Amino acid sequence: MSPTDTTSSSARPERGPVPPRRTEQPLLDTRTRPLRDLRISVTDRCNFRCTYCMPKEVFGKDFQFLERDQLLSFGEIHRMVRVFRDHGVEKIRITGGEPLVRRKLERLIEMLAYWDDLDLTLTTNGSLLEQKARDLKNAGLKRITVSLDSLDDAVFRSMNDVDFPVEKVLEGMEEAERVGLLPIKVNMVVKRGVNDHSVVDMARYFRDKGPNYILRFIEFMDVGATNGWKMEHVVPSRELVERINAAMPIESVEANYRGEVAERWRYRDGSGEVGFISSVTQAFCRDCTRARLSAEGRLFTCLFATQGTDFRALLRGGGDDEQISRRLQTVWGARADRYSEIRTAETARLRKVEMSYIGG
Ligand code: SAM
Ligand code: SF4
Ligand code: SF4
Repeated sequence: MSPTDTTSSSARPERGPVPPRRTEQPLLDTRTRPLRDLRISVTDRCNFRCTYCMPKEVFGKDFQFLERDQLLSFGEIHRMVRVFRDHGVEKIRITGGEPLVRRKLERLIEMLAYWDDLDLTLTTNGSLLEQKARDLKNAGLKRITVSLDSLDDAVFRSMNDVDFPVEKVLEGMEEAERVGLLPIKVNMVVKRGVNDHSVVDMARYFRDKGPNYILRFIEFMDVGATNGWKMEHVVPSRELVERINAAMPIESVEANYRGEVAERWRYRDGSGEVGFISSVTQAFCRDCTRARLSAEGRLFTCLFATQGTDFRALLRGGGDDEQISRRLQTVWGARADRYSEIRTAETARLRKVEMSYIGG
C-alpha cells in the first residue's frame, strides 16, 4: 500500500519492497533533455520578504495568496510524484514560498520517503529549522539546503526585510547538522552593492565549519516581474571566484553528474568546496532536466516561464495515473525552453511567473 490521503492518522506507508519504476524509457524534450528533477512548491506564502524575491511593496498585506483548498493536498502531490518517478524523475526538492510554513509538512516527507530510490531534499530560509529539523529527519528527509545571504546581521535583516536575525538561521543549521540532515548546502544570492562584501566572510565561515557544509553563490536572477532586476546588480561568478581565490586559493573540480547546476571549486589546502550557480553569465540550459510544480498544481518547464500546465483539474476531476502520464508526456515532449541562453534586457522585462510561486 502507498499512502494517498493526508487525513489518515499516520502517513507512514507500510515498509515493503518499493515497486520498480513502470517506465524505464527516459522522457525526452525537443532538445533530448531527460526529465530528472522535480521541484515542488508546497506554498506560495513566506514569513520573509527578501527584496530580490518577494518585495514588500508587492507582497504586502493586500496580496492575494492561494487559499488552502487551492493548494495540492499531500495525497495529490504524492500521486504526481508517483507518475513523475515512473517517467524517470530521480530527485525531488520541496520548496516554496517557505515550505516549513506549510502545516505538517513532515507528513508529506514521510509519504514521499516511501520511494527510497528518490533523492529527497528541501530548500528553506532556515527560520523554523531549529524546531522542525528532527521531525523532518525522522520523516525520512535526507538532506537540506538553507538560504543565507550574509553573516552580517544588519545586512541579513535588511535583505529578508522582516528584521529576522542571522543567529536564528545559524542555530537552525546547527540543529540540522545535529540530527544528520547532511550535507547542508547553503545558498547565498549575491547582489552587487547589497551583500557582495560578505562573500569572503561567508566562504571562510563555512569552510571552517567543515565538510558538512557546502556554500553556493547564486547570481541574482531576473525571475518574476517584481524584483527590479538589472544586469548591473549581478556579480558574475568569475569575479567571485577571483575574490575568493585571492583570499583562499581554490581550483575547479569536475561536475558530479551531467546537469549539475553548481560549478564546483575546492580549496587547494583540502579544506572543502564551494559552488557557483551562474544562471545569468554561464547559462546551463543545455543540460537542464528540471520541472517545477506550483503549489496549486501547475507544471512549469522553466524557471522563467510565463505559463504552466494545470494538473490539479485532472487530479480533482477523477483523472487516473494514465491520463496524468499522458499529459506529462505531452508537456515535456514539447519542451524547448532555454531562457538563460537567450536572455536580453527585453526578456528580463517579460511578465514571468514569480519565484515564490513556482519555487526556486
Ligand atoms: N523560501 C525558501 C528559501 O528561501 O530557501 C525556498 C524558496 S526560495 C524561492 C528558493 C531559492 O531561490 C532561495 O535559495 C533563494 O535565495 C533563491 N532566490 C529567490 N529569488 C532569487 C533571485 N531573484 N535570484 C536568485 N535566486 C533567488
Ligand atoms: Fe521567502 Fe525564500 Fe523568497 Fe526569501 S527567497 S522571500 S525566504 S521564498
Ligand atoms: Fe532550465 Fe529555464 Fe534555467 Fe535554462 S533558463 S536552465 S531551461 S530553468
